Amino acid sequence: MIYLDYSATTPVDSRVLDAMTPFFNASFGNPSSVHRYGQVAESAVDSAREMVASMLNCRPDEIIFTSCGSESDNLAIRGAAYAIRERTGAKRILASRAEHPAVTNTLKHLEKYEGFLIEWLDVDERGRVSPEKVAEAICEDTAIVSVMYANNEIGTINPIKEIAKVCRSKNILFHTDAVQAAAYLPIDVQSLGVDMMSLGAHKFYGPKGVGALFVRKGTPLISHLTGGGQEFNLRAGTQNVPYIVGFAEALRLTVMERERRAAHVKPLRDRIIGAVLETIPDSRLTGDWESRLPHHASFVFKDVDGNLLLALLDAAGFACSSGSACKTGNPEPSEVMNAIGLSREWGLGSLRVTLGVQTTPADVDSFLKVLPGLVEKARKLKLNRHD
Ligand SMILES: *Cc1c(COP(=O)(O)O)cnc(C)c1O
Repeated sequence: MIYLDYSATTPVDSRVLDAMTPFFNASFGNPSSVHRYGQVAESAVDSAREMVASMLNCRPDEIIFTSCGSESDNLAIRGAAYAIRERTGAKRILASRAEHPAVTNTLKHLEKYEGFLIEWLDVDERGRVSPEKVAEAICEDTAIVSVMYANNEIGTINPIKEIAKVCRSKNILFHTDAVQAAAYLPIDVQSLGVDMMSLGAHKFYGPKGVGALFVRKGTPLISHLTGGGQEFNLRAGTQNVPYIVGFAEALRLTVMERERRAAHVKPLRDRIIGAVLETIPDSRLTGDWESRLPHHASFVFKDVDGNLLLALLDAAGFACSSGSACKTGNPEPSEVMNAIGLSREWGLGSLRVTLGVQTTPADVDSFLKVLPGLVEKARKLKLNRHD
């Protein structure tokens, strides 16, 4: 089996696992305990926080550890939305139409149950949010702007620095979901100018089930998980010490090895894009050619059922992903496919191929050997089904 789905998740780096292991048993203390067991655990969490802060170029007390990227998005958006509404009454939230469900469904929830108003920003046909459109859409009643750093489905990188600048000039809080971006893009929060930034470890060779949120000092935020005073009173619950240690080590290695990792995957990725567009009829690249994550290739094939193609690929020994949500009998193109303006006959045939440190040129060769035939097969099966 060849794994080509690194945007869904990555294996844990063995160096990360080694760093985590002692904190499951040998040093198992609760960081809130006063005794020495607690002190050891507390100092591990403190060191992890300092490490993450130094990677992000911020203060340690601006890092909140969470249980995942989704929770970081929730804490940022809910926490700031409640806090700002309480202060100023503002109740509008601006977000792009191509956000991850951790953001879009959080916003829909705030709209339905909490009385917030959501304004969805259009993206262009490559999935990019324009800073000018953000500037036009901001009004007096705007509480927060949330735009993802890089898109998980189509790999498009947004001009986050420019959007942050627009928000700052209008004194509006800016949150970015960097869960997908952190593996390959700069994450210096001073240079980016963001107020809040979400991260999740399992997208960069750390464990699943741990995330972090950068919250700039002075940002109004209300905890949405109440209980003990952990994480500066912003996220209750005994800290997951081994996973927090793993998060910090995975991020450290990522920042250190980022260029090497990108140099490994990018030429392989480019070969895939070139070969697919050249050899497969009625195929298109989704997202942008230039402003794109280096490990990420994504396509749509006209008149192909993306989920069927995934099953055929799986049977042939390749693990890939599609953008469309799998609903038995009645598949719908994903919101991202709709947002970039693809019709149903194209949008349902999406395929995402994402590479990583373990991908070899031979993997790519064998993938490119089988893909054209499988696309053709999926196309025939779909047409027959409609007869
Ligand atoms: C994976 C991902 C998330 C969710 O992260 P989890 O840690 O799986 O909760 C959020 N946003 C983006 C862009 C992602 O790629």
